[in-house]
Amino acid sequence: KARNSNEPEFLQAVEEVLHSLEPVIEKHPEYVEAGILDRIVEPERQIIFRVPWVDDNGKVQVNRGFRVQFNGAIGPYKGGLRFHPSVYLGIIKFLGFEQIFKNSLTGLPIGGGKGGSDFDPKGKSDAEIMRFCQSFMTELYRHIGPDVDVPAGDIGVGAREIGYLYGQYRRIRGAFENGVLTGKGLTYGGSLARKEATGYGLLYFVDEMLKANNHSIEGKVIAISGSGNVAIYACEKATLLGAKVVAMSDSNGYIYDANGINLDTIKRLKEVERKRIKEYVKEHPNAEYHEGNVWEGKFKYDIALPCSTQNDINLERAKNIIENGAIAVGEGANMPTTNEAINYFLEKGILVAPAKAANAGGVATSALEMSQNSMRYSWTFEEVDSKLKEIMKNIHKSAAEASKEYGFGYNLVAGANIAGFKKVADAMLAQGIY
Ligand code: NDP
Repeated sequence: KARNSNEPEFLQAVEEVLHSLEPVIEKHPEYVEAGILDRIVEPERQIIFRVPWVDDNGKVQVNRGFRVQFNGAIGPYKGGLRFHPSVYLGIIKFLGFEQIFKNSLTGLPIGGGKGGSDFDPKGKSDAEIMRFCQSFMTELYRHIGPDVDVPAGDIGVGAREIGYLYGQYRRIRGAFENGVLTGKGLTYGGSLARKEATGYGLLYFVDEMLKANNHSIEGKVIAISGSGNVAIYACEKATLLGAKVVAMSDSNGYIYDANGINLDTIKRLKEVERKRIKEYVKEHPNAEYHEGNVWEGKFKYDIALPCSTQNDINLERAKNIIENGAIAVGEGANMPTTNEAINYFLEKGILVAPAKAANAGGVATSALEMSQNSMRYSWTFEEVDSKLKEIMKNIHKSAAEASKEYGFGYNLVAGANIAGFKKVADAMLAQGIY
């Protein structure tokens, strides 16, 4: 704790996992003897670097770049890059730590890592984004590779940024080594269904959770925070499964549309025009726009899907979500709920689909993209989507079984931590002290 005291998000992520692992440690003293817990909370490698770039006015700007290679026991490090002004080492470490267990849960051979920069993409021109990405990759390239570390997107890093990053990597390496990044465009090795995967996977997982508890997604009313990649495709799949999404948000405010959100409008505003969500009400005057956080809004819904950022739901907002009628929470974002709020939900009998399990569809499909790159072959949308669905079902099953086995009943938060941990811990045991 003392070593990481200035990184509250990292401590929060570690505390949640360690709490779930108490019964596992009791049953397996060999993990303690081999120092697994002490080792698993310390990244294998942390890289911090200068990212200088020139803005459109010819002025030199400097940002800080990060890549944390947290745990490579079961495969090459894998995890996204986040570009957001709030990024510092503690954010990247919490994300990298969570990624270890998430990647393990997918059943695919990928280790945990994460990276990014405190660069703020908002209001930047396309040329500035390109120059920043090129500078970022000019340092990062020496630390990554298809069998070493395979970054992807996250907040502020989508298809456009991955394109610029890959272009620079290819230029420096002088080779078409496209297995080095995932989330690529379809013309140069991207996978069909990768863009949709995190949001779709979230809904497949929530559907499994509801079914296991004699509910169904059909006819449910849903509120979503965020309007980025995860939020948009969560909204799309929820609608396809017969639910109605009535709210979405950005960091300024949220829209409420009692008729159900028109996703075509959202996709155009966010994916093409890169505008703010309040523009929605200009085209849909029956909808409302409110400043502030969507989880403080007073309106009815059955399911809350936080898909924006960490600590979006604190205790007070959790209470409001229950007052609004929610029976389930599905975490599309990473660590969107504080530990206090998660415990409150669980105490009140709210079903919680934890991020590590529920949003693992994105990284799982990234691993499928890596497989296709290795084979130099592409699967159809339907093939990838059906693999994704199967993976989400299996993750739900592993988490539910682990929770039961270790005395937590049906608690997917604990179950996901335990199931994700065991595979990595066993691989670390087998590989000796490292
Ligand atoms: P995007 O950049 O596409 O979208 C992020 C959304 O969250 C935007 O609507 C943004 O609003 C909002 N947001 C970001 N930061 C804040 C903040 N500090 N306060 C309020 N709102 C905020 O990112 P993604 O959709 O890719 O990622 C969303 C979440 O899902 C993250 O937690 C990410 O780690 C997680 N995730 C993403 C995966 C993926 O495949 N993309 C995979 C697994 C998890 P604004 O435009 O106003 O900033």
